[in-house]
Amino acid sequence: MINRRQLLKNAGLLGLFGAGFGFKSIAENTDKKRVLRFAHLTDVHLEPELNAPAGLAKCLHHLQLQKDQPTFIMSGGDSIFDALHQPKDRVELQWNIWNDIFKQDNALPIEYCIGNHDCWGFGQTEDPLYGKKYAMEKMNLSMPYRSFDKSGWHFIVLDSIQPKTDGSWYICMLDEAQFDWLQKDLASTPSTTPVIVVSHAPIVSAATVITDNKFKDGEGYVIGLGNMHMDSARIIELFDKYPNIKLCLSGHIHLYEQVVYNGITYISNGAVSGNWWKGIRYKTDNGYAMLNLYDDGSFDNEYITYGWNV
Ligand SMILES: [Zn+2]
Repeated sequence: MINRRQLLKNAGLLGLFGAGFGFKSIAENTDKKRVLRFAHLTDVHLEPELNAPAGLAKCLHHLQLQKDQPTFIMSGGDSIFDALHQPKDRVELQWNIWNDIFKQDNALPIEYCIGNHDCWGFGQTEDPLYGKKYAMEKMNLSMPYRSFDKSGWHFIVLDSIQPKTDGSWYICMLDEAQFDWLQKDLASTPSTTPVIVVSHAPIVSAATVITDNKFKDGEGYVIGLGNMHMDSARIIELFDKYPNIKLCLSGHIHLYEQVVYNGITYISNGAVSGNWWKGIRYKTDNGYAMLNLYDDGSFDNEYITYGWNV
């Protein structure tokens, strides 16, 4: 029989543990304090069809009935099914249902992030509410991107959606003004303050590359302009200067995944609508995430299904 002491001795570790380091210092910091708990809901794609309103209401009840309740909801974008190619009354209808449900079935504050499907009428320019303005009005936002502080963490909410120069469709990226703002915002955040970044489209994603038949013979994986950030390399180069950036949350791909790259965790938190209210997308079921943020800059993220059946 060999005991633990012998095992450690054999591995040359006895001196290390005996010298007062103990297990605690190499294991997780158990003295950390949770400072914030919130829910991340993304890609609701609310529409009158497919029983989507009942699905959203069920999701809201599910997260508010948790024993350990969140203090607010972070909405990751694509709140409504689609505004991109819809007449205005159809867009209005979707937002009205959204507002009714949030009035009836939710008591938590909500912070919004803009998604591609929230932007109305890309391709036309006559209406003053063209593009993002309509979504911003519905989300009560004065700017499409912003930052705020909560419980010792700095939140940066980005706007991933830029129209193509002909206005016809969108590219997932930051425009110059926003990138400039982001540089300044990070530079003015104390290096001791942990940062969380929220965007609709993922900045880093592995799942988006390997799903939806992106492999093309003779070319390899081909990622379209609207799948994930096209300016990831530029954003990562900036993020590399700030070790206090801990976590980037996104949606858009309706897949749940976590990628750790250069010390930052990139999480895409599935979709409340699953496969656009038609079932499970690959292995990601309809769900939302619950996050805990801690005072030492650590976090945890749990993807929770709420039992929706088509
Ligand atoms: Zn989207």
